[in-house]
Amino acid sequence: MVSAERGRETVRRTGTTVRLRVNENLCCGAGQCVLVAPSVFDQRGDGAVRLLDETPPEEVHAAVRKAVDLCPTRAITLSE
Ligand code: SF4
Repeated sequence: MVSAERGRETVRRTGTTVRLRVNENLCCGAGQCVLVAPSVFDQRGDGAVRLLDETPPEEVHAAVRKAVDLCPTRAITLSE
């Protein structure tokens, strides 16, 4: 658990940290990752994936895992 004081607000985080990597050379621009986790993935003008958040917050971990599963070229790697 990580706890940090921010003024009068205490922020607590529990659980796991995930780290994402994308291989743009494998990406075929299918866009599945963007559909299921738009706060984490975007696409450039040429369709290639653009990673917006390498260590996304816990509330989107389920969506990120789904993106990894749906990616047709296995261009997304998740480590914990
Ligand atoms: S789902 Fe995979 S192939 Fe499709 S845009 Fe995302 S990283 Fe690229």
